[in-house]
Amino acid sequence: MEALHLGLTGGIGSGKSTVAVLLTSHGACVIDADAISRATTAPGGAAIGAIREIFGSDMITNDGALDREAMRKRVFSDPNAKLCLEEIIHPLVGQAITAQTQSAQSNGAKCIVFDLPLLVESPRWRQRLDRVLVVDCLPATQIARVVKRSALAEHQILQIMGAQATRNKRLAAADVVLFNDGIDLGSLAMQVAELVPQFGL
Ligand code: ADP
Repeated sequence: MEALHLGLTGGIGSGKSTVAVLLTSHGACVIDADAISRATTAPGGAAIGAIREIFGSDMITNDGALDREAMRKRVFSDPNAKLCLEEIIHPLVGQAITAQTQSAQSNGAKCIVFDLPLLVESPRWRQRLDRVLVVDCLPATQIARVVKRSALAEHQILQIMGAQATRNKRLAAADVVLFNDGIDLGSLAMQVAELVPQFGL
């Protein structure tokens, strides 16, 4: 039987990662696009060869990873560099997602969750998904959670939020909205448990 393909997205601090873990506990197979993307530029990652070839060895650290600081400087002075880097990384991420999807399918997964932070920003994903679950909360809650979790200052968080899809745009892309605000983690888990039967779990 074909697994249900569920897109999962949400702004920073919405609780998307927490929901992904909860869905895993109900037997879903989660494919994490961010983790895959990071792995391509980690030591020995699939993008390293092409990055070295195109940008030079100055962009590679001694242990064979992308030198993020050097690349940040390069992108700052050369806007084309960002596009070029994305052209290397995106196809590799796409291939890895396809491979993981096939492997989940052949392992008999009933529901494959595509954890895609940029789901709304990249509409080509939408056609590969049966349903889209958006984890939502008030912007003030996003900021409070991220401040508590990380060393980021409020202005940095606002900058990240400003670069992400707007809340309205995300909600417009949703088939199901999980409003993760004013509830504790236990209630969130209960809401996820109520939702999962409609995702084949
Ligand atoms: P995202 O992946 O969307 O950035 P996370 O799932 O990492 O967000 O959640 C951000 C932080 O907020 C985490 O520390 C998480 O434990 C906490 N959190 C999420 N939802 C709730 C909730 N309903 N109640 C309390 N803390 C929460």
